[in-house]
Amino acid sequence: MATKPRMQAKTAGELDAIAASGAVLRECLDLIAAEAKVGVTTAALDEIAEEFIRSRGGTGAFKGYHGYPATITASINEQIVHGIPDDYALREGDIASLDCGVVLDGWVSDAALTVPVGQIADESTRLLQVTRESLEAGIAACVAGNTVGDIGHAVETVVAGAGYSVVRALVGHGVGRAMHEEPQVPNYGVPGAGPTLIEGLVIAIEPMVTVGSHEVATASDGWTVSTADDSLSAHFEHTVAATAEGPRILTA
Ligand code: MG
Ligand code: MG
Repeated sequence: MATKPRMQAKTAGELDAIAASGAVLRECLDLIAAEAKVGVTTAALDEIAEEFIRSRGGTGAFKGYHGYPATITASINEQIVHGIPDDYALREGDIASLDCGVVLDGWVSDAALTVPVGQIADESTRLLQVTRESLEAGIAACVAGNTVGDIGHAVETVVAGAGYSVVRALVGHGVGRAMHEEPQVPNYGVPGAGPTLIEGLVIAIEPMVTVGSHEVATASDGWTVSTADDSLSAHFEHTVAATAEGPRILTA
């Protein structure tokens, strides 16, 4: 009989190892976020990320994952996640969701952010702010003894309160030796429902928020996921541990 994959607690030393991976990732994301200017292609950002991660002795966690061809994902405006970097040159007013993963000494970290390109619309600014706040709310609920439902509820409350939608088709996840471990971490939920967070559990919390409906559509490239109604979307993500002292952000 098949056994269900179980949540695995990481030791203090393992959390430090994931944090070391996360430090490389944070520096990488800061670097490409600063380079995400009008006229720069998403392929150029990808190249910068790959070179930087290699220079720090790591490798990109995405490249080759189920055949994914790049180091980052770059998802513009109505694109939510998994946009493949290409010769698209960023335009004034775009919002660019940049997601990346690093493997360092066998430990994975995963984080994302959405950056404004030049001057952006007020609605875009508000979307970025709300999505960032929903991530902070989710992180605050990442406490041992709480449940996965508590995190989702915290995220969804912020998003719904702003009149936006959380994407339901894609979820956060456990992180460790592999990029996707148990449990799944939806951005919606019922308080007290779902698996209980154990001390030492490491998860990627990653609200994907849309101005319109939560429905998604996948492009013919098989990767890029966009809003079905072409409304704007933003994505922020941290890898976070539930510890005795509360949430520890490993990609800060
Ligand atoms: Mg990610
Ligand atoms: Mg993730």
